[in-house]
Amino acid sequence: MSHRIAVIGAGPAGLTFARVMHRHGHPVTVLDRDPAPDARPPGGTLDLHDKMGQLALRKAGLLAEFEELSRPEGQAMRILAPDGTVLRDWRPRPDERANPEIDRGRLRDLLRGPLEVRWGSSVTEVVPGTPDGALVRFAGGRQEAFDLVIGADGAWSRVRPAVSSARPEYTGVTTVETSLDEVDTRHPDLARLIGDGSVAVYGVNRGLVAQRNSGGHVKVYAHFRTPPDRGWGPDAAEAVRAELLALFDGWAAPVLDLLRHGAAFARRPLYVLPVSHTWAHVPGVTLLGDAAHLMPPLGVGANLAMLEGAELAETIVQTIAETLADPGPGKLDEAVRAFEERMWARAARWATFATAGLERLVSADPADAIALFDEVHAS
Ligand SMILES: Cc1cc2nc3c(=O)[nH]c(=O)nc-3n(C[C@H](O)[C@H](O)[C@H](O)COP(=O)(O)OP(=O)(O)OC[C@H]3O[C@@H](n4cnc5c(N)ncnc54)[C@H](O)[C@@H]3O)c2cc1C
Repeated sequence: MSHRIAVIGAGPAGLTFARVMHRHGHPVTVLDRDPAPDARPPGGTLDLHDKMGQLALRKAGLLAEFEELSRPEGQAMRILAPDGTVLRDWRPRPDERANPEIDRGRLRDLLRGPLEVRWGSSVTEVVPGTPDGALVRFAGGRQEAFDLVIGADGAWSRVRPAVSSARPEYTGVTTVETSLDEVDTRHPDLARLIGDGSVAVYGVNRGLVAQRNSGGHVKVYAHFRTPPDRGWGPDAAEAVRAELLALFDGWAAPVLDLLRHGAAFARRPLYVLPVSHTWAHVPGVTLLGDAAHLMPPLGVGANLAMLEGAELAETIVQTIAETLADPGPGKLDEAVRAFEERMWARAARWATFATAGLERLVSADPADAIALFDEVHAS
């Protein structure tokens, strides 16, 4: 018996799910609203943990390729005080593979591989429980029915309302992102400051993090507390740069150079779902990744999204095999329900960690951030 399965969203969650299904000979429909895979910049670097993102890649048969593409040296991390004093300078051992970094674009291309994604498919709504199954509605009015619809469509999921009334809430922290290119040749002093991995600087209720991506590209994130309704000035790069330089006034000159040399700036207020977000199971629809458990960005979201994608795929593959031997209605749905219980329990633990972590990283006492770093690196 073949099942009509759609995954909405070709991010880490959706692509990992589809790739593991593909590996086991079960093609699924992958839908994404972006008009093409490279329609927008893919974002910064991700560290994939051995027991999460890397485990998911193993399940997809892609671990060896990941090892070729990833940057173990990118795990290096330096922490400075706002005056430029080096407080921590952590380097990975040569064989350290716990959390290698990979550019998001490279990860996306690795996961996508032979999959056929239906780009330009903007989902507006999912209606569960129709006589033909779960109905996916698209911008433009088209609709299509599936036996199972998986919402892997991120923070502002259009699938989520089919199972839950929860909406993301603002954390009180906003990130402004900028980037530098060809840092080794154009800004060698900054290249030395950043090293092979990341440099972070923590002040009172604010912080700056610069992360090396491949090809001499650097992403810079400025985090700070600000009310959600704060009136922002114009979005033009020079205006945002001036606002940030005022906000970080008095910090060491090389640290401020990360902002002075940044190209375009993007504001990203950080939103989260409730820490223990669950829902009454709805047959024919489920959620993965940020759509299910949006949490502060403390290096976990993409890892969880991938692991869940891989595990849900394995659950479904196994159920399909069992159903062939012993057909019966509702078996796929029972398997999805059991998967959701496991996903919720694990995600709640990580959301608790990430929520407390954000409070410590953007804190009235910068020593909180250093203590968090020490705890994570001691474990
Ligand atoms: C600044 C920052 C740094 C981060 N760093 C890390 C890190 O180092 N490590 C880590 O593990 N996590 C990190 N995260 C978190 C991580 O980015 C997310 O948790 C992860 O991308 C979630 O994956 P996802 O597949 O669930 O959703 P997404 O990556 O958001 O993908 C969703 C996909 O759905 C598509 N889509 C959206 N709406 C629709 C629609 N209506 N119809 C069709 N398609 C749709 C989108 O185009 C997109 O392709 C970071 C986050 C931020 C903001």
